Amino acid sequence: MIEVSAIQGLLVYLGLMGLGLGAAVAWDAWRARRQEWQVSNERLVRCTRCSCAFIAERTRRETDCPRCGARLSVGGRGGRSGYQEQT
Ligand SMILES: [Zn+2]
Repeated sequence: MIEVSAIQGLLVYLGLMGLGLGAAVAWDAWRARRQEWQVSNERLVRCTRCSCAFIAERTRRETDCPRCGARLSVGGRGGRSGYQEQT
C-alpha cells in the first residue's frame, strides 16, 4: 500500500516538474520573441513622401508605406534610405 502511494507521489511530482519545465520554456521563448521585437529586429522608418512614421522589420531591405504605399528602403547604418520611385 505504501509503495503504491509512493509511486503515485513520484508520478505526480514528475508531472508537475514537466509542467513547470514546459511553462518555463514557453515563457522564455515568449520573452525572447518579445524582446527581439522590441529591440533588435525592427526599425523606425519615416516616409519621405507623406512623413508617415512606422516600424519596419530590419531584416527586410524594402517596405511599403502603410499610408501612401511608397516603396521605402529600410537601409542599414550609413545606407541610403529614402523614397525610391517605383515604376
Ligand atoms: Zn508614405
